[in-house]
Amino acid sequence: MDLEYKGTVYRPPVEANTMLLPVTEGCSHNRCRFCNMYKDVKFRMLSTDEIEAWLSEMYRVNGAYKDQIERIYLVGADPFAISASRLEVVIDLIRQYFSNIKTVTMYAAVRNIMSKTDAQLKRLHELGVNELYVGVESGLDDVLKYLNKGNTVDDVRRQCARLNSIGMRHMSLLMPGAAGKGRGEEHAIATAELINEIKPAMVLLTTMSVFPGTELDVDVKAGLFTPAGEKEILTEEKIFLERLNLPSTYFWAAHSLDSVRIAGFIGKSRPMMLARLQHAIDNIDEELFNKTFRRDHL
Ligand code: SF4
Repeated sequence: MDLEYKGTVYRPPVEANTMLLPVTEGCSHNRCRFCNMYKDVKFRMLSTDEIEAWLSEMYRVNGAYKDQIERIYLVGADPFAISASRLEVVIDLIRQYFSNIKTVTMYAAVRNIMSKTDAQLKRLHELGVNELYVGVESGLDDVLKYLNKGNTVDDVRRQCARLNSIGMRHMSLLMPGAAGKGRGEEHAIATAELINEIKPAMVLLTTMSVFPGTELDVDVKAGLFTPAGEKEILTEEKIFLERLNLPSTYFWAAHSLDSVRIAGFIGKSRPMMLARLQHAIDNIDEELFNKTFRRDHL
C-alpha cells in the first residue's frame, strides 16, 4: 500500500521526540476563526489497513529499538474525535507492533471528550490513553464564541473535571492575546481562574497570530478586531503566570510565535520566568518589534 498523508503534520512542540502515527487527516471542526492549519484538508479517519501500513513502516525503521519506545503520538487535529471502540482497535494494533507503549497521546477537542461516556474514558485510560492536549485557548466565554471554538468555558470545566476524576492527565493549549487590544488583563485573570480549577499537567501558550486568509484576518482588515500590542500580550502573560496556583504544572511558552520563550515548573521556575517577562515589558520597542518579528505563519 502506498503511504500518503494529506496536509501538514502539526504536533505539540514538546512531542518533538515522540513517534508519530497518522490516524486522522484534517480537523473534524475546522471552523476556528484564527486557524488555517487544515483549511485545504477534508477530515477523515484513516482505515485500519492504512494505519497498519504506517505501523509496519514504522516498525521497519524503528523495530530494532521497539523495547525502548514507550510513547506514541496520534497525528491529526483532533484524533480523539474517533469513537472509543475504534480507538481501542487502533491501540490494539499499535501494541501488536510496539508492545512496550505505555502512553498514547494526541490532541483532543473539548467536544471529543464530551462525546465519550465515563466508562469509555476509563477504558481508554486503562489502555494507555493517559495524556490529552486540549485546546482551551481562553477562560472568557465571549472570546471562545468569537473564536468559534464550538464550546463554552463551562464545557471546558466539566470535561476536564471528568478527565481529572479518572486520573487522565491533560495539557491546556492557551492563546494569549485572544481577547484583543485593551482586554489583556481581563483575559489573564479569567484564564488563570479556569486553569487553577481544571489543573492541567502542563499549560502551553501560543500567542494569537493573524494568519493571512483566516476569518480573523478579514476582521482585522475590516476594523472589527484589534490585536493587542506586544507589551500588552507580555503583560497578560505575566499576570496569568502570577495568578497560577499550580506549583507542579509545567509552564511552556516557547513557541516560535511567542516572543519571550520561557519554560519550567511553576513552583520552581516562576521567579525566573516572571523576571524575563518583566525585562521584555520594560525594554520592548514595539515599533521595532512589529517591523522585525514575523508572526504570519506557523
Ligand atoms: S484550532 Fe484546532 S479545532 Fe480549531 S479549526 Fe484549527 S485545528 Fe480545528
